[in-house]
Parts: sequence; structure tokens; C-alpha cells
Amino acid sequence: MIPGAFTYHRPSSVAEAVAILVSHGDEARPLSGGHSLIPMMKLRMAAPEHLVDLGGIADLKGISDDGGTITIRAMTTQHELIASDLLASKLPIIRETSLLIADPQIRYVGTLGGNVANGDPGNDMPALMQCLNATYVLTGPDGEREVPARDFYEAAYFTALAPEEILTAVRIPVPPAGHGYAYEKLKRKVGDYATAAAAVVLTLEGGSVSFCSIALTNVADTPLFAQEAGEILAGSTLDTATVARAVAAAEAITEPASDGRGPAEYRTKMAGVMLQRALAKAARRASN
Ligand code: FAD
Repeated sequence: MIPGAFTYHRPSSVAEAVAILVSHGDEARPLSGGHSLIPMMKLRMAAPEHLVDLGGIADLKGISDDGGTITIRAMTTQHELIASDLLASKLPIIRETSLLIADPQIRYVGTLGGNVANGDPGNDMPALMQCLNATYVLTGPDGEREVPARDFYEAAYFTALAPEEILTAVRIPVPPAGHGYAYEKLKRKVGDYATAAAAVVLTLEGGSVSFCSIALTNVADTPLFAQEAGEILAGSTLDTATVARAVAAAEAITEPASDGRGPAEYRTKMAGVMLQRALAKAARRASN
């Protein structure tokens, strides 16, 4: 399968990239790792006439920490997320999630920015970013704006990103030291997208949950922030009855498609199972 013809652009600054997007409108698309866009182009499900390769923009690389917030620039690859000592110490759930994405070859090239901007409900990073209450930095012709990950996803492949905007960075508030975390993903085989997955970050104080954030992957058209489930668990000791109520609340917001990964009912139940496992693992990892 061969993609349609396109003109290739390689700007060296964000301003130059935005200017190219502005001049070509809907006919242009940013290109990051290309591991979602190029397969779509080969299948002729996307046919941009202009590809704006962000790979030559040095400002879009790197991970920094200003104390309370970690900023990951958009062109940081999934492999670089896994290799980062800073993330391993402050946001270890990012490494855990990245290691469950595709395979090493894809992770060497696929980027965080591409993963979260893509809008594919099968991508793992969007739900994780909702769980972590991350903010996306979008740069367009009128400057920069910030959109919370929890407000960014509108429908499958529809997001708050305007055609002339570039997602330049992801900002993540650092959870408290000693927090528990887990990303549990059910997939049919190594390299597959999730049948269902759950991200959990929680803190414990004296054996009770003081804070709990939950989000789900690939069980609706968008990633799902399971706010009610997290609120049910706050103040609990993660006893069986309360966990069952929280899992039921999370399952209730799912709306998966029946597809090759299983019927909708099965995928909803698997979201619940992934959540239960993620809660148990996060609790084991949390300092009390
Ligand atoms: P690209 O493919 O370059 O871009 C994706 C989309 O986002 C395009 O529409 C592009 O225009 C837009 N875009 C890219 N960057 C920006 C930006 N900075 N600002 C605005 N728009 C932008 N992903 C998972 O999460 N989990 C998996 O299990 C998984 N399995 C995979 C298995 C296979 C076999 C393959 C080929 C891919 C898999 N992926 C999976 C997808 C992979 O993680 C992609 O790399 C990722 O989805 C997109 O990142 P990218 O850098 O390759 O983006």
C-alpha cells in the first residue's frame, strides 16, 4: 500500500511549522514519529497534501522539572520516556505505560506528542495524561494556549487541537512522593492495542485513600477520566465492597465497540478487571 502524493516540509522552528500549517489549512498535517499517521496514509484513511515534519525542531525535545511540574516536550520519544531517570523517580507510571506500547522499534520513533495528539482511543498515553491531570500546550498563529487532557478529547480522532496548531508540550503536576501507581493493560498479544486498560494514581494516609485518580483506555470513543470511581474510593481502606462500587462506577461510563478485541460487554468487564488489578498494585506500591 502506497500513500498518496504529498509535499514534505521540514521547518526548524515552531513558528515556521505553524506558518506552513496556516498557509495550507486542512491539507497539511504535522508529522512526528509517523507511526500512526503513515499507516493511515498507506491505508488511504488520511491523505494530507503537505506533511510538516517536526523532527528538525530542537525546541520540541526534552524533559524538564521546575519542582512541582514536569514538562515533556512533544517530540520526546516513548523510548526516551522509558530511559528518563527523572520520570523513573517522579512519575514512574509513565515508564510502566510506555513499556506496554507496541514494541521497541515503534517506541524508538513514536513520540509523546504524536500519541496524545492523534485522538485514537487505542492510544495509551491519553488516559494516563487524564489520570495525571496533565495539561497540553498548543501553539498556533495567535500564540500559546493550554488545554487540560481531561477536556481535550471530543470523539475518535476529534480533539481540541485546531488544524493550524501544534501540540508543543505536556505539563504534568508531580504527584506526592510515595504515591502508588499502576497501568494495567489487557492486550491480545505483544504489540497490540488495549482490549481495555486502566491507569491509577493514589495516595494513602494511615491506611486510607487520601486521593485517587483513575482513567480508562480504549473502552469508548475517547479516553475516560473516571471521576466518580476515584471519589468513591477517597476515604476508604480499599475494602472489597468499596472497590466493587468504584469498579461498577467505572464500568458504567464505558461504551466500547464490539470488534476483534471482543464484544462490548466483555471489554467493559475487562476494564473493571484492569481497574481492580491497578488499584491493588497501586496500593501495594504506595507508602502508607
Ligand atoms: P504521528 O504518527 O506522526 O502522528 C499522529 C497524529 O498526530 C497525526 O494526525 C499527526 O498529524 C498528529 N500529530 C503528531 N504530532 C503532533 C503534534 N506535536 N502536534 C499536533 N499534531 C500532531 N500506540 C499506543 O498508544 N499503544 C499501542 O499499543 C500501540 N501499538 C502500536 C502498534 C503498531 C504496530 C503501530 C504501528 C503503532 C502502535 N501505536 C500504539 C501507535 C504509536 O504509539 C504511535 O507512535 C503514536 O500513536 C503516534 O505517535 P507518532 O509520534 O508516531 O505520531
